Amino acid sequence: CGVFGIFGHPEAANLTYLGLYALQHRGQEGAGICSSDGTKLYLEKSLGLVAEIFNEKVLKNLPGHIAIGHNRYSTTGSSTIENVQPLMATYSLGSIAIAHNGNLVDIDRLKSRLEKDGAIFQTTSDSEIILHLIARAKDGEVHERIANAVRQVRGAFSLLLMNEKELIAIRDPYGIRPLSLGQLRDAYVIASETCAFDLIGATYIRDIEPGEMLIISEDGVKSLKIFNSAPKAHCVFEFIYFARPDSYIFDHVCVNTIRKELGRQLARENPVRADIVIPVPDSGVPAALGYAEESGIPFEFGLIRNHYVGRTFIEPKQSIRHFGVKIKLNPVREVLQGKKVVVVDDSIVRGTTSKKIVKMIRELGGAKEVHMRISSPPTVGPCFYGIDTPTRQELIASSHKIEEIRKYITADSLGYLSLEGLKKIIPNSELYCMACFNCKYPIEFESRKVSQMEL
Ligand code: 5GP
Ligand code: SF4
Ligand code: MG
Repeated sequence: CGVFGIFGHPEAANLTYLGLYALQHRGQEGAGICSSDGTKLYLEKSLGLVAEIFNEKVLKNLPGHIAIGHNRYSTTGSSTIENVQPLMATYSLGSIAIAHNGNLVDIDRLKSRLEKDGAIFQTTSDSEIILHLIARAKDGEVHERIANAVRQVRGAFSLLLMNEKELIAIRDPYGIRPLSLGQLRDAYVIASETCAFDLIGATYIRDIEPGEMLIISEDGVKSLKIFNSAPKAHCVFEFIYFARPDSYIFDHVCVNTIRKELGRQLARENPVRADIVIPVPDSGVPAALGYAEESGIPFEFGLIRNHYVGRTFIEPKQSIRHFGVKIKLNPVREVLQGKKVVVVDDSIVRGTTSKKIVKMIRELGGAKEVHMRISSPPTVGPCFYGIDTPTRQELIASSHKIEEIRKYITADSLGYLSLEGLKKIIPNSELYCMACFNCKYPIEFESRKVSQMEL
């Protein structure tokens, strides 16, 4: 998911709309904005893309100088309007809204305890638990209640909360998902990625620290350390695939630079004699550039992506059917014909897309050889911290050797980046979660033990 928040700007909702627009890649299922004029919270949310949901009329319903927004990408809970965030609640101390990027683990016990205690859940999203924990706290002032609530949950959370008068940001003690603080003249902004700051002309100041709670109000900015220190576990997959290349995440590291370096390392580890290097667009582009630079093999665009394919595409029942990957990608025959081609992609999950791409490059593009190169190690473990990967059984690399995967995707050769290579490229790699590549999960939890037993 993507989150954006702003404090101290007369056009808070408009800027949040722009911020969400820049963060659209982090979630396309639904979006929402909550604003405050200092006395009351206003909320607008819907299923769909940011540009489909918000227009001048809807934004007029969101007055005030404080706002938070959210782009949803579901990992827990279904794709329904109830689950679109921000979630809002009114309780004894007023109103509160929350926008959550990440995924909580072991929520079943907490949820049933709350339900036994009389809580009625409006959504199937894990984030609502935090609201209930805040609302049901026996006593304490609002910040204490919030801190106590988030101390009771475990997992990945980059959170934005707001009440009538404050914007509050919290990051889990591991720092799994990114969350950055910026400034726009007198206003403060907080976003999942700095590409949102660029669009509105804000300056990136620093990240919200893992375990930090930042409270922004008329009194200024207050920082509290609300968790004991934990070993950092930033999500390495943000660099590989999820974040936008023009963002700086995890303490000012440029995503594009890392992606290119991963491509260079991939070329050093898996060289091949070939005529051209092509990316699987868009996610494979920076790594393919790096591969081409390092290997000296010319870079070409051999696959063109249709950027307008949305969830709304309806495959006609009659006439032509089974478009498959052709809806999204089309080969450039002029570039591929008769060539030995290196195809660079960021990851193989199930292997189904890669198989279709190889076939397309060979059969429709007329390539002589197809050499698949992947700028991450084999994906062997599912993510439980906010990236929507399938179950272990569906991850092709969890049960197949590289040679078996090569056969399955029908490539002439297949090469992955090594885990050591990945660690070499990522600065301070010991501060990263790489569980989808090495199965070392930084936060243990019950449901994982169950899923381990299923193996
Ligand atoms: P596969 O060959 O495993 O079917 O698909 C691999 C492709 O899926 C790669 O191009 C990669 O960029 C993309 N991919 C990897 N992780 C994700 C994800 O979390 N969401 C989406 N939509 N695509 C992903
Ligand atoms: Fe990121 Fe993978 Fe860790 Fe999930 S398991 S947080 S995708 S590195
Ligand atoms: Mg891709």
